[in-house]
Amino acid sequence: MALIVQKFGGTSVGNPQKIKAVAERVLSYSRQGHQMVVVLSAMSGETNRFVDLAHQMQVLPDPREMDVLLSSGEQVTVSLFAMAVKEAGFDAISMLGDQVKIVTDNMHTRARIKHIDSDGIKKELDAGKIVVVAGFQGVTESGDITTLGRGGSDTTAVALAAALKADQCEIFTDVEGVYTTDPNMCATAKKIDKITYDEMLELASLGAKVLDIRSVSFAKRYNVPLHVRSTFTDTEGTWVVEEDKSMESNPVSGVTYNKNEARITISKVPDTPGMATKIFNPISEQGIVVDMIIQNTRDGELTDMTFTVPRTDYTKTMSIMEKVAKEIGAEGVTGSKNIVKVSIVGVGMRNHTGIASTMFKVLSDEGINILMISTSEIKVSCVIDEKYTELAVRALHSAFGLDQEKA
Ligand code: ADP
Ligand code: ASP
Ligand code: MG
Repeated sequence: MALIVQKFGGTSVGNPQKIKAVAERVLSYSRQGHQMVVVLSAMSGETNRFVDLAHQMQVLPDPREMDVLLSSGEQVTVSLFAMAVKEAGFDAISMLGDQVKIVTDNMHTRARIKHIDSDGIKKELDAGKIVVVAGFQGVTESGDITTLGRGGSDTTAVALAAALKADQCEIFTDVEGVYTTDPNMCATAKKIDKITYDEMLELASLGAKVLDIRSVSFAKRYNVPLHVRSTFTDTEGTWVVEEDKSMESNPVSGVTYNKNEARITISKVPDTPGMATKIFNPISEQGIVVDMIIQNTRDGELTDMTFTVPRTDYTKTMSIMEKVAKEIGAEGVTGSKNIVKVSIVGVGMRNHTGIASTMFKVLSDEGINILMISTSEIKVSCVIDEKYTELAVRALHSAFGLDQEKA
């Protein structure tokens, strides 16, 4: 008998028929004697619909109220799922974040899990029930509902698997695993059998939304092997695991893109000490995460500072920057939402040279202008105009030998 955590995403539970089919799939494990914890997302499209509704009420929706709203989608699916299991003659109980006690900090809409009380779940499992937990939500010490950031149900599942010391953690989704690039954008994308935590962390942080980045951090920290696989087939998916020697042969394992960023330039910033703090402190105080930063200095002359922030924080950051620009005597602020960050990732990059320059050449051969560049040990990212996303991804995928062989 094993303790298994299985998470099903929005498209897997997108309507009543699909919920019943997923319940059947989970029941097949229960019938073999396994203890099952099921984590569910909201039905596909629901969370987006809520975000839209909120913006019809307030330009910048109140974060606490936003979480009360956003968390409601998962409440629907877990209750329906428990009913489907009961209808099939087995016992189940749904649990919301505050019923489990998934305690988070109070950063509404992007809260972090502080600790999980797994006793309640264990009691229900020992009583022979399938425990159905609402993904993506938690509760603060003072009892307010929080959400974990978009895609956060993956994180709920992995955090629960770690807290319960589960034997298996499986992430069921609408594709058959983690691919060399988004299979919905590039028809030649290949499924990867095994990928390291570090590569998956980079892919997730650079836009491969198949796994939420925080779920991968949890999995790495607590050494939870993750199996990403399809809800609709029985095919073996992708294992996210610790690195071994065999994984270093390819310089590039995957290509990603992220359209969720925006670029802001504050021009003619005085080149004196303390400018970076004056610019970035007010942003971080608002909980906004800055990604790439470019600054040029020219001894005492005025210089430009360019950086990227999540697109959802663009309007807020622009208004903060306009104030800051006046205070520090900069010339002005400009920005664009029409950018994309395209990246290549691979642990093998550590042992290969010339990877970045190949990437620049591929983009230039396609006539694509690079706006910003950043690198780390196992990735290279370029910001380009959003309209070239597909062209860039496909050209890089092919240039680094990732295309699937034609059958
Ligand atoms: P779920 O609702 O199950 O959580 P998501 O939509 O969050 O599913 O994630 C699955 C989607 O991630 C796929 O449909 C695919 O379009 C996208 N995706 C992006 N990059 C990749 C990749 N490298 N491998 C697999 N899927 C990817
Ligand atoms: N329903 C949430 C979202 O759409 C969480 C999730 O699906 O993981 O972001
Ligand atoms: Mg997801």
